[in-house]
Amino acid sequence: MSWQYLSPLIIVVTSQVFILLEHVFPYDKGQKLFRKGWFLDFFLYSLLQSFVLGFAINAIVQGIDHATHLSALHVLGGWPLWAQILFFLFTHDLYIYWFHRAQHRFPVLWRIHEAHHSVENVDWLAGSRSHALEILINQTIEFAPIYLLTGSPDLWAIKATIDAVWGMYIHSNINSKAGVIQYVLNGPEMHRWHHSKEYTGYGFNYGTKFAFWDFIFGTAYRPAKKPPGYGLDEPFPQSYLGQLVYAFRPFRPQTSPALPLSLASEGEQNGSGGEVYVKGA
Ligand SMILES: [Zn+2]
Ligand SMILES: [Zn+2]
Repeated sequence: MSWQYLSPLIIVVTSQVFILLEHVFPYDKGQKLFRKGWFLDFFLYSLLQSFVLGFAINAIVQGIDHATHLSALHVLGGWPLWAQILFFLFTHDLYIYWFHRAQHRFPVLWRIHEAHHSVENVDWLAGSRSHALEILINQTIEFAPIYLLTGSPDLWAIKATIDAVWGMYIHSNINSKAGVIQYVLNGPEMHRWHHSKEYTGYGFNYGTKFAFWDFIFGTAYRPAKKPPGYGLDEPFPQSYLGQLVYAFRPFRPQTSPALPLSLASEGEQNGSGGEVYVKGA
């Protein structure tokens, strides 16, 4: 079966597995399947936005290829498929770690990331809520090298499938206990804390697929307790268009860094001191 059909099949099947596991082993008990924002995240972010941006990103990558003819060189084409997958997983994840960290540091970048943090019930679907500009930047940077260095549409589809499955997993409401594996591979144990309402805007657990970036760069946070809640402190638009446009509102002059001392010191303890984004700035 070609990846054109295999990819959506794998995504649909794994989503059902995650939904089942959320039901049997919930991280936060009582969280509903059709929670607030479900239709927004499923129909508008997962289906419509992904579909439209898929065309846009493909057009950009094909445009670069048309101008450079790089894909015809098959620079990495001689590598085994598993080595190509590992190479792109590793390099893109390192990029995402630092870009994500910068998004929590610089207000202008936070503007295209806050929609992702506006989900109040983090579950298998929550990861789909990302501003269109954030997706456009990250996925162009992700898929352009894949296509230009290998010329393989299959590798593009394989990487996109891994992204989708892993994105569902790290946000899922599954009470996973990965043990030492969590030091290497990221999961809900750490990423759900990244969405914590109490700590939104603070710097920890930026990793997507690999957790070791956070341990290497001193931003890992893995307490035994669970987050008190998820989402943003401030009101945020509820509609897709509202969230899209809200990123371009004027910046208000920054008055004072109104950070509770307890939270500020906690940020320092986990190695992220100074990497504090002041909400509303
Ligand atoms: Zn974030
Ligand atoms: Zn997330």
